[in-house]
Amino acid sequence: MDRYQSFARSGVGRFVVRKLGLPDPHPLRRHSPDRPPLDGPVLLGGGGRLVAPVGAVLRSIGLDVVRGGHHAPGAERYGALVFDATAIDGVERLRELYEFFHPVIRSLGPCGRVVVLGTPPGSAASPVAQRALEGFTRSVGKELKRGGTAQLVHVAEGAEGSTESTLRFLLSGRSAYVSGQVIRIGTDPVAAPGDWSRPLAGKVALVTGAARGIGAAIADVLGRDGAHVVCLDVPARGEELSAVANRVAGSALQLDVTAADAPARLVDHLRQRHGGVDVVVHNAGITRDRTLGRMDEGRWDAVVAVNLAAQERLNEALLDSGALRANGRVVGVSSIAGIAGNVGQTNYATTKAGVIGMVDALSARFAGTGTTVNAVAPGFIETGMTAAVPLVVREVGRRLNSLAQGGLPVDVAEAIAWLAHPASGGVNGNVVRVCGQSLMGA
Ligand code: NAD
Repeated sequence: MDRYQSFARSGVGRFVVRKLGLPDPHPLRRHSPDRPPLDGPVLLGGGGRLVAPVGAVLRSIGLDVVRGGHHAPGAERYGALVFDATAIDGVERLRELYEFFHPVIRSLGPCGRVVVLGTPPGSAASPVAQRALEGFTRSVGKELKRGGTAQLVHVAEGAEGSTESTLRFLLSGRSAYVSGQVIRIGTDPVAAPGDWSRPLAGKVALVTGAARGIGAAIADVLGRDGAHVVCLDVPARGEELSAVANRVAGSALQLDVTAADAPARLVDHLRQRHGGVDVVVHNAGITRDRTLGRMDEGRWDAVVAVNLAAQERLNEALLDSGALRANGRVVGVSSIAGIAGNVGQTNYATTKAGVIGMVDALSARFAGTGTTVNAVAPGFIETGMTAAVPLVVREVGRRLNSLAQGGLPVDVAEAIAWLAHPASGGVNGNVVRVCGQSLMGA
């Protein structure tokens, strides 16, 4: 909890926050193996092609599912409200959203989840009505209090059996800091893991920039999920890097990703030590902020080299050499600055938008192969990088999102673990913001 959050939860703080209408950051419920994923039953409504398969998945993972439409207001406190909107085939049927959610939205418990399931507008009977679901879901995300989140999931026709990893992520504390997102699930092949608590068992995962911050959390979470994690960082961070690698029972690779021979050395290392790699997470990144007129060329060049050029070169080498194995997962780390732009970050935002371009280009190339590429776009995450930001800017970054707080490195890591999951083969070409629905950008 940050200082403002502790104040807002104190007796006098509660009073002041309520009276002045100040941001009220509710403590977020995060994943723990000892607790159920949700704090109450799932109310499942709607009547499209997804309601039966999704209901079956939710029951199979141990959630208590109540079929919607028979709700007596105030009767229950729900952990989640899930609505299958795929049957909405005309604008007049959008009223079904209102009819389902209006009586129950105030019965959603703390850190509750809203998930609307739709059809990709491009292939829907009514592209207009399906596109309209976005405005609804994003507004619900902004209205929910007490740590609640809302997402829209577009499930392609034929991908009805590919939702499990995404539902497990969204209907749990793993997605604590993800809200207002539109996620697409396509028909690419998925593989159910032998053990859902260790979905990456037997896989090798590379994490760049793993010595600290978000990268260290990614190594922790992928290690928890069973992967052997190759933790990469610059030689200057060798000690911290070894500590992380030891903690996750992985291995350390000291390498500067911008070095001319980095792609060749990385491919050699992965092939010789591990035979290849299954999951690649491009997390290493730097900021060198200045407004454009005051930015020296060194700042521009360094940021482009680390955040974008290196990723492109490493990807090419991993693909050309065949080191990235079949059903591989590539995950880029973008930023909301790459979507919305940011003062003092022309260099950084250029590279982070470029990461999204890389996802677009590679996902088209991977379509139908079983390999995927996606990116996460973090908002304000509490790390060494953001601790260095001046106090006032830091406070603004923390509060200007629907959850009124910064995220934790583990929140980004959980989103990456979902994208890296063998059952997430249908999730290709997505950019998912982990930003608490930041007010910056779309
Ligand atoms: P951090 O500075 O704490 O960690 C970055 C790591 O990358 C460091 O260990 C660093 O040594 C390593 N690195 C830098 N240059 C490298 C190179 N040439 N070769 C190998 N490793 C290198 O940063 P963080 O906050 O953990 O950020 C991680 C990623 O998340 C970055 O890509 C960053 O742009 C992105 N991000 C962070 C935030 C945030 O709020 N912290 C928000 C949006 C995006």
